[in-house]
Amino acid sequence: MEKYVDHIISIFGKNPNQKRGYPGHQEIELALVKAYELTGNEKYLKLSNYFIEERGTLPHYFDEETKKLKEVEEIIDYSKFPSEVRDFIRWQDNHSNSVKKHDYVQAHDVPRKQYTAEGHSVRALYMFTSMADLARLNNDSDMLNTCKKLWRNIVDKRMYVHSGVGSSHHGERFSFDYDLTNDMAYAETCATIALIYFADRLSRIELNSEYSDIIENSIYNLILASTSIDGKGFFYDNYLECNPGFLQFQNRRHGIRDEYHTCSCCPPNVLRLIASLDIYIYSSYKDQLVVNQFISSELDISNNKQGLKIKQISKFPSEGNSIIEILESNNSNSSIFIRIPKWDKNMKVLINNEQFKYSVADGFAEINRKWKKEDKIELNFDFSPKLLRSNSNVRYNIRKACLFRGPILYCLEGVDNGDKLNQIIVNSDSKFEQKNEKIADLDIISLSTKASRIQSNDDLYSEEKPILKETEIKFIPYYTWSNRGENEMLVWINEK
Ligand SMILES: [Zn+2]
Repeated sequence: MEKYVDHIISIFGKNPNQKRGYPGHQEIELALVKAYELTGNEKYLKLSNYFIEERGTLPHYFDEETKKLKEVEEIIDYSKFPSEVRDFIRWQDNHSNSVKKHDYVQAHDVPRKQYTAEGHSVRALYMFTSMADLARLNNDSDMLNTCKKLWRNIVDKRMYVHSGVGSSHHGERFSFDYDLTNDMAYAETCATIALIYFADRLSRIELNSEYSDIIENSIYNLILASTSIDGKGFFYDNYLECNPGFLQFQNRRHGIRDEYHTCSCCPPNVLRLIASLDIYIYSSYKDQLVVNQFISSELDISNNKQGLKIKQISKFPSEGNSIIEILESNNSNSSIFIRIPKWDKNMKVLINNEQFKYSVADGFAEINRKWKKEDKIELNFDFSPKLLRSNSNVRYNIRKACLFRGPILYCLEGVDNGDKLNQIIVNSDSKFEQKNEKIADLDIISLSTKASRIQSNDDLYSEEKPILKETEIKFIPYYTWSNRGENEMLVWINEK
């Protein structure tokens, strides 16, 4: 591996015999930071810094490279390429001369002056991840400031309710603020994995519960939904509304997970994420333990200042309860920070079965005491179903609501509710009935309620006022949709 990197170091750089280039698809930048942190060898950090600082400078490397390539270009017969590849090449050709051509690869300006998320979403987020790493390692407050502006632009204006990002299927990219179409959502699985990386890197710099809120939302909703319950099918794009007939005519992937993708990035990326899930559960802040996620696990940090060894037993995602037991402690006075989730600001904490009134620090409950072996922290969360609305600038979601139970997003599916799901209107003050059920052998909790359905008549257009009929509807967790055949699905429901 070192030989490969040494070769890249010899080719790219600012010396006269080197190319002043950088990658078209960012990822090596964050890998180089990992190599530096593992080995302590500055050459990896230097190359990562070079790639980020050189990007977007003038004369533009990609323009110069294109000029040189045109001189030696061979005629390639694209007809033998798979149709997806042909479409992509055609798309690139059509866009290569556009005014904004460099924003697709985030080379329209130097990264530290990019304040909105532009272009191909996976490239963008891998780059932002490495920028956050470099901000931390170089103690670069200007770079950190840029990262925070990018983060705000994404989570305030360009992110779906299931943490999907990169809404446009043209160029699998970010488009513009509040452009979050549901039935044409791209929201590539890899882009949300990269968003998790970016959130994680920012959380290593400062204590802020929002980073782990987004990681939690990503994992339970988009990431889990991206893979079928039997583990054999994968979504590349993650819709929030599915009408199979519509998707077919838009030449989009259907509302069914494929067993194989020509561009097979997402399935192994999900595998890697799940295998490294432990990274996101705990962290430290000023040598104190931080609990970010409520996932059953054990943590041994008996070698550090707090001398703690703990065990967490969580009932997520079916129930809002998690218990943390202290298995070992050096009995010193110290703090444990526990994330107060965005969806339950009234999280209840019991210590050794007694209610504990905690202080709040940057979205975390801070519990300071002399921790002893066999101490027990019990966390209770409000898992009652709640309707959530979106900012009215998202034109697709006006007068619509979606349903959450704790961190779990719900949806309607045609197999439970009949088709034409857009005719359904949910009441703002709906009461939901919980039921234990199974979907493809997986235990789930469904939520049923009374709603209305707009009746249709034979006229395409009519002056008649709509007629509503009462109906019963059933929601299932979004992560279980499309496990009972291809059918309609809807996240954002009309609201009365
Ligand atoms: Zn992917």
